[in-house]
Amino acid sequence: MVSSFKITFIGTGGSWPVPGRAMPCIVLQSDDVTNLLDCGEGSQKRIMESKISFMQIDNIFLTHFHGDHFLGIIGLIQSMSFNGREKPLHIYGPIMARNILQNALSVGYYTLSFDIFVHELLPDQVVQFDDFKVRTLKNDHPVPALSYSFEENDLVKIDRKKVDSLNIPDRRIEEIRDKGFAEIDGKVITLDMIAAGLKKGRKVVYSGDTRPMESMKTFAYGADVLIHETTTDSQYEPKVNEFGHTSSRQAALIASDAKVKRFYLFHYSPRIPDPKDLLVEAKGIFKDSYLSREFLEYDVPKRTDLMPLGSATSQE
Ligand SMILES: [Zn+2]
Ligand SMILES: [Zn+2]
Repeated sequence: MVSSFKITFIGTGGSWPVPGRAMPCIVLQSDDVTNLLDCGEGSQKRIMESKISFMQIDNIFLTHFHGDHFLGIIGLIQSMSFNGREKPLHIYGPIMARNILQNALSVGYYTLSFDIFVHELLPDQVVQFDDFKVRTLKNDHPVPALSYSFEENDLVKIDRKKVDSLNIPDRRIEEIRDKGFAEIDGKVITLDMIAAGLKKGRKVVYSGDTRPMESMKTFAYGADVLIHETTTDSQYEPKVNEFGHTSSRQAALIASDAKVKRFYLFHYSPRIPDPKDLLVEAKGIFKDSYLSREFLEYDVPKRTDLMPLGSATSQE
């Protein structure tokens, strides 16, 4: 498990930028792995104004290829090259990512100083990283689009008393974790014999652009944080849904049904000068609703409850 699973909002608007509000961009840091979720126009400047270095970004997850979600990548990559970046960059996105990014990254004259690996993801795909995994969900939007769920690896907590009473040397514990068992002095010791329980990893879900979807309720179920688009409040609902978006009322209903711990409103229409009405509407449905705003940080608290071992999805 990582010590920090931290969200920083970089840009929170949608469609086109307005003064004081940039295009969608979020940083999720899992200790020293820096993930960028969407990269709208102007993201690099906003990142430079935050505490995060744009050079440290390891992975970029693009929800889809509407300009407000990816046009910032062109400038960002050229700046990384100017600054002599050498470490490879991984970019994940839905179908057509390779084609679109190849075109976008061929704009103008510059020398790329590092390798870029583009990974096209399908809906319901799982990508395992060292400390977390990423799942995808198909969005309901006019173009191919994905939601992402970032799930920290679960941890089997070891019960010290059980270890001592069974006389298991400390150096063998990792072996039992890895294999699920070990043979010690002719006796087979299994993981559940020394486990106190399972500490579930943290879960952060980001919707990108989508109409409200039933499938989101399962996908985001029990998440510590759901960042769901809320383009407007419910007075524009028919129009917003027609264009492939969600209102604050609809997103709050999803947050409530998905039993998430915290819901951030995100992707405010440029026609909404102040999203406070969206928050009032959302809070009326789901009290743990919060407005995302630029440079807001949230370090997702570690889970403290222990589950039975059978609910393991992975081990650390
Ligand atoms: Zn958008
Ligand atoms: Zn869109």
